[in-house]
Order: sequence, then structure tokens, then C-alpha cells
Amino acid sequence: MLRDELYNLFKLQELQDRCESLEESLKSHPDLKHLFELKKDANEMRAKLQEKNKRIHDLEKQLRHMEQTVHDSYFAAKQLEERIYSGEVSTVKELKILEEKRNSAIHKAEDYEEKALMAMEELDILKTQLPGEIKLAEQMKTQYREKQLKINEEIGKIKTELGSIKKQLQQLEASISPELLEKYYRIKKLKTHPVAFITEGKCDGCMMEVSVMLAAEVKQHKRIIYCENCGRILV
Ligand SMILES: [Zn+2]
Repeated sequence: MLRDELYNLFKLQELQDRCESLEESLKSHPDLKHLFELKKDANEMRAKLQEKNKRIHDLEKQLRHMEQTVHDSYFAAKQLEERIYSGEVSTVKELKILEEKRNSAIHKAEDYEEKALMAMEELDILKTQLPGEIKLAEQMKTQYREKQLKINEEIGKIKTELGSIKKQLQQLEASISPELLEKYYRIKKLKTHPVAFITEGKCDGCMMEVSVMLAAEVKQHKRIIYCENCGRILV
């Protein structure tokens, strides 16, 4: 029956619309951009944390070395001091050399003490900031994962619906004659919606009046009737 075929053709048109809009939403899901930004932020935060942890590790290592240098330099200065006052020094020249060595050892110790102090201050700041930043990084990761799960779920739903629509489309196509289908697809190349209903004497596609005679013929469903104005298949 041509009538059934035409109604199925209209149903096919509607389902194809739905199919296109679903495929479009798969390609450009509005949340995908947001998800991408969340991932970028979380990755940046992680990199920042890794950098800070490395800095803390390096500073601690440097600090141990500085403290050792301070200790060694004071120890060397003390030993030189003992030699200076031990009475073993016999010449002024020798005494001068020992005094210079002692002064330079003290100077080195003081220099490293200052460096160690600065390193400790930086470490203190870094270690105070760290727990808050670790918490923030975790929150960002969780936010990203939750969003990802939500989007995956939505995309899964869309894919399921698409699968079911494609099956229905196949069934519909099988119920329509190849001749009618071929005409439908030929018009579809020019117009998104090749099938139109007549509503209140007008073609739904172009909104132009359809002659009473043609409208009556459409209702009989004896042959395929096209809109005289836009060429759409009338139902
Ligand atoms: Zn028309």
C-alpha cells in the first residue's frame, strides 16, 4: 500500500533527523570542552606539585651539605686557633699564614650559615603550602574523573539510542519500495526534508497553497504526488 509506504517514509525522515542531531551531539558534546579544560588544569597542578616536591628534595640535600660545611669550617677554625696559641709557631710569617687560614675558615662557616638559613626559610614556606596544594590537586583530579564518568554515561546513552534508531531505519527502508526511496533520496540532496504533509491546504515544506484537486489526489494515495511549488513528496 502506497499510503503505508508514504507514512513510513515520513517516519524515516523524522528518524533521520533525530539520528543527525544525535550524531552532532556526539561530535560536539558541550561538556567535552569543559572536560578538556578540567584535565588540563589537573595536569598542570600535578606538574606544579612534582616540581615543588623536587625543589623540597633538592633543598634538603643542599641544606645537609651546607650544615656539614658549617660544622667542618668551624672545626678547622678551632684547630687552627689551637695551633696559633699552642706556642709551636716560631715565626711571624707562619703565624700570619695560620691566622689567615683561620679567618677564611670562619668566613666560610658564616657564609654557609647564611645560605643554610635562606634554604631553611624557603623549605619552611614550601612545606607549609604543600598540604593545601596536595588537597587541591586531589580535588581537581576527582572533579575531572566525575565529569568524565558523567559524560561517558551520556555518550553511552546517545550511542544506545543511535543503535536502536539505525535498526528502525533499516526496517523502515525495507518496508518502502526502492523506487520511492530513490525519489526520496534524490530530493534529499536538495532539501533536508523531502516529505511534506498538507496542512490547511498548504504544503508543510514551502507553505504554499496546494490546489484542491491535487490535495484530493494526495488523499487517495494512488500515485506519488509532488508539491507543484517545491517538488516535495506530499503525504
Ligand atoms: Zn511545497
